[in-house]
Amino acid sequence: MNASGLSADQVKLQARARELASGPVAKRAAEVDRTEQYPWDNVELLKDAKLLGMTIPQQYGGQGRNWLDAVLVIEALSSACSVTGRIAVETNMGAISAVMAYGSDEQKKLAADMVLSGDKPAICITEPEAGSDANGMTTRADKKGNRYVVNGRKHWITGGGVSRLHLIFAKVYDEKGNEEGIGGFLAIRDETAGLKITKREPTMGLRGIPEAVIDFEDMELPPSALVMPPRGLKKGFADLMNAYNSQRVGAATVALGIAEGAYELALDWSEKRHQFGRPINEFQGLQWKLADMSIKLRAAQALVYDAARSGEGGFPDMLLAAQAKVFTSENAIQVVNDALQFFGARGYSRELPLERMARDVRMFTIGGGTAEVLRNVVAGALLKKKLPQTRDGWAKA
Ligand SMILES: Cc1cc2nc3c(=O)[nH]c(=O)nc-3n(C[C@H](O)[C@H](O)[C@H](O)COP(=O)(O)OP(=O)(O)OC[C@H]3O[C@@H](n4cnc5c(N)ncnc54)[C@H](O)[C@@H]3O)c2cc1C
Repeated sequence: MNASGLSADQVKLQARARELASGPVAKRAAEVDRTEQYPWDNVELLKDAKLLGMTIPQQYGGQGRNWLDAVLVIEALSSACSVTGRIAVETNMGAISAVMAYGSDEQKKLAADMVLSGDKPAICITEPEAGSDANGMTTRADKKGNRYVVNGRKHWITGGGVSRLHLIFAKVYDEKGNEEGIGGFLAIRDETAGLKITKREPTMGLRGIPEAVIDFEDMELPPSALVMPPRGLKKGFADLMNAYNSQRVGAATVALGIAEGAYELALDWSEKRHQFGRPINEFQGLQWKLADMSIKLRAAQALVYDAARSGEGGFPDMLLAAQAKVFTSENAIQVVNDALQFFGARGYSRELPLERMARDVRMFTIGGGTAEVLRNVVAGALLKKKLPQTRDGWAKA
């Protein structure tokens, strides 16, 4: 779906991403889903096209691009392959952007180098007993002499087993056992003893990217692994979660891209498929469905772009990011479902991409903050109240 207000450079970038999406990325999408294999070949494509780590500042080897630039790329890729779209999210937003905002120079160099060479960082917040209530996490980092010792379990960690760089959130305790707040630590899989991938979740969709349980068993980290936000540990979780607003915009964009891909397929099919002696798009019931789908997509795109633009020079606004993610994820599910209906029985077949899209898009009202919890974020911002149920840390900061 074309939007106005893009610069000439953004239109060029979008065209580059669309070309990749409609070519090699689209060709591989069904196979990635069927084999459940991480698409390392697509990572190489993104790397060659300079679409990984675009938002990393130039001084660390990136291009210093803004959130809307990243959104345009993610939207295009996700219309063909949501897994590849998610890789573009997590190499431009989320953990990498948190490190770029709050990390030390050494941490920034490390993270930038890893991402630019093809690593998709993992962000480890959720635990079996602490999902929406992230403040209830029990993973702990105990200061012992000149190191932290981390113990706990995270689950549903995207990229677990393929990602190398991990940003791990844990409650930090001083030498005397006093809690100091939630901190984020950097650790590299395979170079850090005690970081163990213990299970891959059998997911409904987005199957080309693993979701894993990760156990930390006496994992030792130096103090230099702690990503320290400027306001210190007590309020640091809120700062780090502020960076997460970029990831939310990214997640909304993947949902938008999937729905746009499904809509285009339905539009095309509605002209080709004939019943009762005419193309099915001559039935008003389907015309109105197409109209409603396009209205939802246009509105979602406007919200997503607006949220992305709000982050100029910092991170996307929390209210706009939450509004965009709730609206886009819920409407994208409806649009994909409607698109599938256009194909009748064919839509239900695994030979067409619609059923994959329907499975993939379902995730986006859950991961990265559920639609319910994000409504709490929206309400909190409107009422100017710090609601405790926001998963943003700021309620208790
Ligand atoms: C594919 C996928 C990828 C993910 N990737 C990551 C990742 O990389 N890193 C990571 O840390 N986590 C990740 N997650 C986890 C995700 O962030 C959590 O699933 C999410 O925050 C919800 O937590 P939960 O699943 O424990 O649900 P729960 O918190 O148990 O919620 C259950 C239900 O109760 C509702 N609910 C809970 N609290 C409230 C409230 N206060 N008001 C109203 N309703 C409420 C929820 O909306 C939901 O409907 C991923 C999840 C998925 C599905």
